[in-house]
Parts: sequence; C-alpha cells; structure tokens
Amino acid sequence: MSKTADLIEQVDQYSAHHYHPLPIVIERAEGCWVHDVEGGKFMDMLSAYSALNHGHRHPRILEAMKKQLDKVTLTSRAFHNDQIGPFSEQLAKATGLGMSLPMNSGAEAVETALKLARKWGHVVKGIPKNTGEIIVCDGNFHGRTISIISFSTEPKYKGAFGPFTPGFKSIPYGDSDALAQAITPETAAFLVEPIQGEGGVIVPPEGYMKRVRELCDKHNVLLIADEIQTGLGRTGKMFCCEYDDVKPDILIMGKALGGGVYPISAISSEPELMLLFGKGEHGSTFGGNPLGCAVATEALRIIEDEGLVARSYETGEIFRARLSEMASPLIKEIRGRGLLIGVEIKEEYGPARPFCEALMSHQILCKETHESVLRFAPPLGFSADELDWAMERIEKVLKNAP
Ligand SMILES: *Cc1c(COP(=O)(O)O)cnc(C)c1O
Repeated sequence: MSKTADLIEQVDQYSAHHYHPLPIVIERAEGCWVHDVEGGKFMDMLSAYSALNHGHRHPRILEAMKKQLDKVTLTSRAFHNDQIGPFSEQLAKATGLGMSLPMNSGAEAVETALKLARKWGHVVKGIPKNTGEIIVCDGNFHGRTISIISFSTEPKYKGAFGPFTPGFKSIPYGDSDALAQAITPETAAFLVEPIQGEGGVIVPPEGYMKRVRELCDKHNVLLIADEIQTGLGRTGKMFCCEYDDVKPDILIMGKALGGGVYPISAISSEPELMLLFGKGEHGSTFGGNPLGCAVATEALRIIEDEGLVARSYETGEIFRARLSEMASPLIKEIRGRGLLIGVEIKEEYGPARPFCEALMSHQILCKETHESVLRFAPPLGFSADELDWAMERIEKVLKNAP
C-alpha cells in the first residue's frame, strides 16, 4: 500500500471521523506550497480557511516563535507576562479599538463577544436579566460550541446536539429591513459576518453594513462583526467592515492572528464596553499566553510591513477578472472581495467536491463550501507568477464538466 493510504487508514482507525478531507497527506510546506508524503507538490488555495494569510511558515513568524520559545511560553493570567502588553497595543493600532481580550479559538472569541453583549444589554441598556436577545443571520457560521450551533441555520451543524441555548433570533442575511423589523427593546446585539465565508462566500448588497450600523445606533443595539475569516487583509482591507467605513462595537478575530502557527483569537472594543468584564467573570488558561502573543504581534507587523492588505486587494481583482474571462459554461457566479473568492458551480454540473478532486490532480488544493461553491483563498502574498500557474490549471478543470 502507498504511504498515503497507510497514513489515512491509521487516522481513520484512531481518530474521529468528523471531517471529509481530500485524500492527500501533507508533510511539509512553505509559502503557498505544500508537499505530500509521495513527493508531490501542490498549491494551497485554501490557506486553512484563512488562517494562513501569511503563507506557510513565514520566516519572521518562525523567528518570533523560536525567540519566544527560548524565553517563556506560558504563565497563566495569574501573573503578568511581558508579551501581552505589546500585543494588545499592536492590536489596538490595527483595529482602531482601544482594548482587547485574547482567547485561543475563533469559537471562544465569539462566545466571549456574546457574553460581553449580554452583560451590556442588562447592565447598560437595562434589559431585564436573562431576557436579552441577540440577532444573527441565516447561513451564519460562527463556530461549533453548543451555544453557537444553537443559532446556526444549517441542520448538519445542529444535528442531534440539542437542547440548545435560548436568546437568539435569526433573520435573512443582507437584508437590513429584516433587521429593522427584528429589533425589539430586548435586543442586545446583532452578530454578523461582513461576508459569509462558510455560508458560500456570500457578499451582502452594497452599503449593507453601513445601514446595519445606522440601525444599531438608532436602536441602541451593539454591532458585533465576526471577522475571524474576513479580517486581517483577507478581503483586501485590513477588516472587511472598512468597505462601508463601519466600526463595529465588538470586533472578533482569530485564524490568521496566529500567523499560521499558533491558535490565538481576540475580541476588540472600546474600553467602556470591555471594562464591563469584572475580575473572575471570564478567562482561559492559555488565553493571552506569551508565546501566542509574541506570534500574533509579529503576524500583525508583517501584514503592515509587507503591504499584504493592498496585495490581497490587487491580486483578488485580477484573479476574479481572469475567472470571468475564462467564460466557463459551468460557472453560475463568481463572488468575493480581495482573496476571498467563491465560484458557484451551476446546479446541473453537480456538487463542487468532484471539482476539488480534479483540481487536486492538477496540483491545486481547495475545498468546497456549501456543496456547490469552490472557495479560492490563497495566502495573501501570492504572486503574479503563482496566479498564472494556478489559472492555467483552474482553467483546465473548469472549462469542462469533470
Ligand atoms: C472559522 C470561523 C469561526 C470559528 O473559528 P474556530 O477557530 O474554528 O473556532 C468563527 N467565525 C467565522 C466567520 C469563521 O470563519
């Protein structure tokens, strides 16, 4: 048997079957390239769902991590460490929001935001205790905890995992009138992705976030933007909300914040909101650890130093233009901003998965989202030559039905 088959059999035997990966076993990577155990070379156009905006093993990220490994990695928050201050200041500069709270995974940061919004709803807005409501959108993806799947509209995510957490209401995405109608005196917050990534790279109508911001201001409702996938340059702005000149009350980040090597997430807000968390009301053993903070500080600096935001914007424009020029009869729609690109396959040509398999046989790795959509999201430093290399192969696969 091949090495690949052996390793896949081993993981199938000993590890849970909650994913459906492509049949490739990766053993090393650099930039936007990965190598499998058979000696094959592939271009990574998924970037770990945008956690690899910097590319694989960015030298400066590795250097920052190695340096910190030789000093101290974990202190717990029972003591201070010398990395969390510089990280928090750097993040405040990047977000334009004065304070942050570091966690580990995206879902944890979402949970943190929901807790803060509920407390604000009661303590500041005066919503009676335990009745505050949070509005979300159909097709949302915010993570996998019990509370977060409680307001998912995807049956597969909810499965048999109930009973669910109350206090959430879902409305159509991209429809600001629906938000206006859904808000009640009990509404504490509106939680939204400025582009729905897992939902199929759904870009809302022009000016949606601006209108949402106005409605939240008018009705004294917090605006929570989940930019775990869209943030940190992915969509051609540092944060996708900037397309509408919108500043959320709570900004949620994760994925690329860890530079592709270390899980770290955070929420940011102005101090008056963040300081509602009292001592002992929230926490995480690893949250804010010096290793994660050192890596994240460097990850933020690299985005600035290498102009990754502008590169994402420019390469994204060219990428989408070239996809359109291809005039493939299989494509229903090309969507996205910056280097978060969704290509929806026409229904009659079936699900997107066989296209991912065909792309893999042409050395391109990407993953379907929402059955019929191919998501292309390469690392942000992706060059013109690399795009040419990729387009040649994508064209072969998308010109004809597999
Ligand atoms: C990935 C993602 C999450 C969850 O992050 P995890 O680190 O997997 O918990 C939440 N929201 C959005 C928009 C995401 O893309």
